[in-house]
Amino acid sequence: MQNILFVSHCILNTAAKVVLYDEAEIKAEEALRHRFVGRALELGVQMVQLPCPEFTLYGAQRWGHVSDQFDNPFFRAHCRTLLAPYILQMQEYLHHPRRFHILGVVGVDGSPSCGVDYTSCGSWYGSFAKRPGLEKTLAGCTLSRKHGILMDVLCTMLKETGLEKHIPVTALFAPEEKKCMGLLSGL
Ligand code: SF4
Repeated sequence: MQNILFVSHCILNTAAKVVLYDEAEIKAEEALRHRFVGRALELGVQMVQLPCPEFTLYGAQRWGHVSDQFDNPFFRAHCRTLLAPYILQMQEYLHHPRRFHILGVVGVDGSPSCGVDYTSCGSWYGSFAKRPGLEKTLAGCTLSRKHGILMDVLCTMLKETGLEKHIPVTALFAPEEKKCMGLLSGL
């Protein structure tokens, strides 16, 4: 029996991430990523890398965003297109339960796209140039208890295909490490 996880792209490839400057945040994320991926490898878990919707739309020089900016039909359609082949992969693995077991999906909490329980929210839009109250607008970003947009689309697609009951969805989140590690417990 092979155990399989579907993981957000940057759990295996941090080169796709938006450039971060908060050293403490980077260290905490990296430490958890190493513990989680290391443990999964030790246990022989196979990891399928989901696509990064932001890198594939905006590239390596994108700004950081909040999920409200991606909550539009165009970004959601992009996510749906990217995810469709992964839904087929999930269906095929589930079709062979004696050989494969899907442990779940692991996103990245806080991300405007891949957050599962938490995503960044705020009223960000428009030009920075000469904008009154720019600092206040940027500081208005909050972590809200919502899905990021890719994970929201994924959860909708899991429901549409009836896969929802077979595939738990959780996330890496340093303050709540048990969430992702829980998928590996019992192996
Ligand atoms: S969009 Fe998702 S995969 Fe891409 S960098 Fe952000 S958290 Fe990682």
